[in-house]
Amino acid sequence: MSKRGIMVILSGFAGTGKGTIVKEVLDKYDNYAISVSATTRQPRPGEVDGVNYFFISEEKFEEMIENDEFLEHASYVNNHYGTPRPYVEKCLSHGKNVILEIEIQGALKIKEKYPETVMIFVLPPSANELKSRLIGRGTEDKQTIELRLKRAIEESEYIDKYQYVLINDNLEKCVEEFDEIIRSEQKRIQNN
Ligand code: 5GP
Repeated sequence: MSKRGIMVILSGFAGTGKGTIVKEVLDKYDNYAISVSATTRQPRPGEVDGVNYFFISEEKFEEMIENDEFLEHASYVNNHYGTPRPYVEKCLSHGKNVILEIEIQGALKIKEKYPETVMIFVLPPSANELKSRLIGRGTEDKQTIELRLKRAIEESEYIDKYQYVLINDNLEKCVEEFDEIIRSEQKRIQNN
């Protein structure tokens, strides 16, 4: 039987390119899976239900909380986000490392419940770069961008809770570093 996979939390301010890193990791290595979250946020142009997120109503979200269907859930800039439990558990039991692209509150809940979870924070090369990426992707209005930047400043206080920080100045290098971190963590966990 294959060894159980590990959970990997990937957090970072909105607009740091986490999604691109995850996509590259999934394309390049076959021992990873991504957890698809549920959210009450409206889809952005191009986002597909069941691929980027499960886009659900507030009522459905509440129902999932009541039925204990989430590994964790949190709110972020006026919307709710949660990690559905069954898919993550299935992947882990099949030996896949499961990437959870989630924000800090949820990350801390997972780490408390499952201490072997690896926590990685992605930083943009600079604050200006972050702002221009957020504005450049053109998917949020001005007020939302400001709320997200404010949230980024609040979240920066928690970076020291993460075991690893990746600076996304070179995608290929970032993806390789990500995999190296997970391989060394797996060895460490197996030797314990
Ligand atoms: P966005 O709206 O830009 O897709 O995501 C906003 C924030 O919510 C990001 O920091 C993202 O990582 C986080 N997020 C996405 N899914 C989840 C989830 O299931 N749980 C938690 N706690 N955060 C999530």
